[in-house]
Amino acid sequence: MLDRLSIDVFNSGYKQVPGGPGWDDRSPATWPASTSTLIAGDTQAVLVDALMTTVEGERLATWVRDSAKQLRAVFVTHGHADHFFGAGPVLAAFPDRLADLAGRPAADGAAPGPLGVYHCGYHHEDSFGATSYLVVRPGGNVLVDSPRYAAPLVKRIEALGGVRTLFLTHQDDVADHDKWHKHFGCERVLHAADVGAGTREVERPIQGTEAVRLDDELTVIPTPGHTRGSACLLLGEQFLFTGDHLAWSERRGQIVGFRDACWYDWGTLVESTRRLLPRRFSWLLPGHGRRCHFEAGEMARQMQRCVAWMESVAR
Ligand SMILES: [Zn+2]
Repeated sequence: MLDRLSIDVFNSGYKQVPGGPGWDDRSPATWPASTSTLIAGDTQAVLVDALMTTVEGERLATWVRDSAKQLRAVFVTHGHADHFFGAGPVLAAFPDRLADLAGRPAADGAAPGPLGVYHCGYHHEDSFGATSYLVVRPGGNVLVDSPRYAAPLVKRIEALGGVRTLFLTHQDDVADHDKWHKHFGCERVLHAADVGAGTREVERPIQGTEAVRLDDELTVIPTPGHTRGSACLLLGEQFLFTGDHLAWSERRGQIVGFRDACWYDWGTLVESTRRLLPRRFSWLLPGHGRRCHFEAGEMARQMQRCVAWMESVAR
């Protein structure tokens, strides 16, 4: 639930340009200042327009990063150069590193390092704007849910080592899975109960409700409820990728399941959450809603609270 919006404006300032024939050189000729506007909620933002030059775009990218908001989209009002030629450096800031693999938050403003968990950006409208994540690790990179298959993102992910595994949390967030698979040759993992016409070719359908280890760091935990084939991915004892199963609610100040967006069965969703209780992790990374980070003991208490709340909510 959105509580408030803020609006900030970046002003590029005037740019000097050659005056041209007949210009009175006693006053400098300038290109008008252009602006870019960041509309932000508590944690996320959209940017309206993206200036003109690369240098402006770089300043803009730093400004957006300094806002500490998670940029969801750049809205270009119209196709004139001074509204989008500067977008390159803003887009090049993705994927954006959230945490290193020891689970500590990445230092503010740090350049993305090679190892860690990244927010991909490039949210896809076909997956209802869901967040996708990239794990860069020695054991093979993992893409969690499908961002938009956009050339700048593909190049950045190539530079970070490509994708070995594409984990799809559930049927709603598969979007461009086929394009990512074709480009990187990655194995796609999706629970069999959520395999449909567009995902029939996935290499690794998961069956049943028992957890499945993909390797010594990655465990798929089927968590039916939001959909019949929803599943979470646990990385080490640090990160739980939850898709639309669980997220942090700012309004309630706790972890919740989406009672109003439960497509399969709420009772099953509660039971799936109960089965997560013995798992240790310190980051909860959802497709929708807010992520949260606690040390593992506090996270375990937060999960208990979540289950207690869910049990109190009518079916
Ligand atoms: Zn969903």
